[in-house]
Amino acid sequence: MTNAEWATRGNKVFIGTYSRFPAAMVRGSGCRLWDADGKEYLDFLAGIAVCSLGHCHPAVTEAIRRQAGDLVHVSNLFHTPPQIELAELLVNNSFADRVFMCNSGAEANEAAIKLARIHSGEGRYEIISLAGSFHGRTLATVAATGQPRFHQGFEPLPQGFVHAEFGDPGTIEALITPQTCAVLCEPLQGESGVRPLDPGYIRAIRDLCDRHGLLLIFDEVQTGLGRTGTLFAHEQLGVTPDIMTLAKALGNGLPIGAMLTTERIAASLTVGTHASTFGGNPVAAAAAVEVLSIMLADGFMASVREKSAYFVGKLEAVARRYPHLATGVRGRGLLLGLVLTDKGIEHGPDIVQQMFTEGALINFAGNRVLRFVPPLIVDTAEIDQLIDILCRVLDRLA
Ligand SMILES: *Cc1c(COP(=O)(O)O)cnc(C)c1O
Repeated sequence: MTNAEWATRGNKVFIGTYSRFPAAMVRGSGCRLWDADGKEYLDFLAGIAVCSLGHCHPAVTEAIRRQAGDLVHVSNLFHTPPQIELAELLVNNSFADRVFMCNSGAEANEAAIKLARIHSGEGRYEIISLAGSFHGRTLATVAATGQPRFHQGFEPLPQGFVHAEFGDPGTIEALITPQTCAVLCEPLQGESGVRPLDPGYIRAIRDLCDRHGLLLIFDEVQTGLGRTGTLFAHEQLGVTPDIMTLAKALGNGLPIGAMLTTERIAASLTVGTHASTFGGNPVAAAAAVEVLSIMLADGFMASVREKSAYFVGKLEAVARRYPHLATGVRGRGLLLGLVLTDKGIEHGPDIVQQMFTEGALINFAGNRVLRFVPPLIVDTAEIDQLIDILCRVLDRLA
């Protein structure tokens, strides 16, 4: 079966929610993927910041195999060792004392929204999030997402979500009412174009929450687990949230999410108030235990930061070489964006397509930046190769 044959079959049976590259991926290893036609790709998408240890990391694959031979699922009517080990690792390496396990980022945010509401009580249900944010595709997380294009056609959305302008804590304060219970934000907005929140801004948000008795929820679904060069992005900002959500990289490709909080706040979710049939599934949890063990080993985060500095230098050189197409680089760790000029933006989708044709996978985030989210195990030779391909494509546009 070729790519074209797979695509024809797929396009006949799927609801058309995705605009897919015309390739059927059949194998992955490290930062490489292979499609059904045997073509090799250099993967700087990592399944959208998911496969942070690269495709089919041998230790993760082995953990999955081992657990799949022992026990695949029993539901949360029982304890399972991998889920407990994972929760302990998360608690021992974060501000949090308690964890709720689920299967995706949207579900982790749903749990955070429910917790914020039930904990605040007394008619306090409103959550302030930021313009340009992305929090998921369920109805509540779509309502939390500060981008109207995700709302259109799905109204009426669940009540209790308002959006503040990006960058100005005053616009958050202006939205606070007696109904407000929390502020929800990403430490760095991924989907809307790799936009970091600066530390002063985040500190001002923390301060607002403290003064008004609001919970601060960090959506670290994309920024978490080493993506920005520390286990959690907020460690670099000097600000601790009350609730944090994780998902993407947690299982290195197996679906798993988590919502973390403190002992005091967690006490508000009691027996029967929230649940997930698959949440913290033993196979996904066993993969996540392995992921965290690898990431927490000495030197891992330092290597991410080193490769980030190298990659940023290369991307800045690209921006200088093509000033008519790119204005600069932003992001943290290995969540980086090449910010395009108006002319560059016109070519954005075409650049991504041509990179694909040349065997390199990136995407166009927020209709303004080329986003690079390679596996965190990427090496400098792979970064060089990506930059060569990018320059070849940009030369053709020049
Ligand atoms: C991807 C993402 C989500 C949604 O995660 P899903 O697993 O697709 O539900 C939520 N928040 C952020 C910041 C994300 O990047």
